[in-house]
Amino acid sequence: MPGGVNSPVRAFKAVGGDPIFVASGQGAHILDVEGTRYLDLVASYGPLILGHARAEVVDAITRQARLGTTYGAPTEAETELAELLVRHVPSVEMVRLVSSGTEATMSAIRLARGAMARDLVVKFAGGYHGHQDYLLAEAGSGMATLGIPGSPGVPRAFTALTAVLPYNDLEAAERLFAERGGEVAAVIVEPVAGNMGVVPGSRGFLSGLRRLTAAHGTVLVFDEVISGFRVGLGGAQALLGITPDLTCLGKIIGGGLPLAAYGGKAGLMRHVAPEGQVYQAGTLSGNPLATAAGLATLRVLERENPYEVLERGGAALENTIVAAANSKGLGITVNRVGSMLTPFMTPDTVADYASAARSDTAMYARLFNRLRQAGVYVAPSQFEAWFVSLPLTTEHQEALDEFVTAAIAGL
Ligand code: PLP
Repeated sequence: MPGGVNSPVRAFKAVGGDPIFVASGQGAHILDVEGTRYLDLVASYGPLILGHARAEVVDAITRQARLGTTYGAPTEAETELAELLVRHVPSVEMVRLVSSGTEATMSAIRLARGAMARDLVVKFAGGYHGHQDYLLAEAGSGMATLGIPGSPGVPRAFTALTAVLPYNDLEAAERLFAERGGEVAAVIVEPVAGNMGVVPGSRGFLSGLRRLTAAHGTVLVFDEVISGFRVGLGGAQALLGITPDLTCLGKIIGGGLPLAAYGGKAGLMRHVAPEGQVYQAGTLSGNPLATAAGLATLRVLERENPYEVLERGGAALENTIVAAANSKGLGITVNRVGSMLTPFMTPDTVADYASAARSDTAMYARLFNRLRQAGVYVAPSQFEAWFVSLPLTTEHQEALDEFVTAAIAGL
């Protein structure tokens, strides 16, 4: 396998050392093949809000496996999952289940382009929406806003249809819309960015995007693949009171199995085949095992509504990091929304990709390795989120605070 891994960040290139080969996970912990136990703040990059191998989820998967794993035909459970998403996520009136976040954002953009008969897409620097060609675009230099390919293999002609703007910069979006508003099919944005490290979108920025897109007949897509059911049952859009036209979900809604979704206004979603002409399909879409895991997870979240507990857990970890950094005289800035956070190794405010990129990544690598030695597994890159899971909050907060304090003291 290239780099020995099936997804690049797992190879630890940004922090050094060998990847952790996981043997099992239980609650807040993972156990590696050498028998070392870690408190897990990676949580599979977001899905495991309930921790590893939660009983209700394991039972649901086991029950379903005995009944078969895939049929290529509708099931009652996928309808239940769809209803649950519609009930909680304000923008979602109709929804299509897919198998990955990449597929969700790709399909949402195709829908927007097809329904609006326009080609241009706007994204924001530092935003990640999966690895489809035209969203692997980086900001051009200077005044140029048109995207340049973010990877070899992505044709320049594809990213020429993607404009890349700075995050949290409404004026840049206003300028683009003043010039080319009539060409923009969709604006896609993470309302809480998680892929340059955690950077919350400001209310003014996101409500400004809502106003601009409505005025120009552009589809506003919130990519809530991370923030959906993470920051609250209704995602960031419910917290902010800003309703996009389409929403992409993933991670938590699959309960640790491959499942994602895109949904939104019924009038828009009816353009999707077979009701409309915009084609999108999947052999394993709405897969029964993934649907069972997702439903079991979301039902626990509905029943327990653990978001205050998660907020307290996130706040406690943030306070621990800030206190330890202060007593050591280190400039560390923690960005946090509920149970997702990133400690940036910089004393300055981090509000966009340019400010995130000023972090001291060598210092982050040292922090990662000290935490690893202490038995805490965090994201192996400065530009990822740390996730606090429910079992971590309820059972292991003190140990975590102790380990983090010691790791920072030793930097
Ligand atoms: N959108 C966001 C905000 C993400 O964080 C990710 C993955 O991390 C994706 C989309 C792509 O999801 P997947 O990795 O399931 O394709």
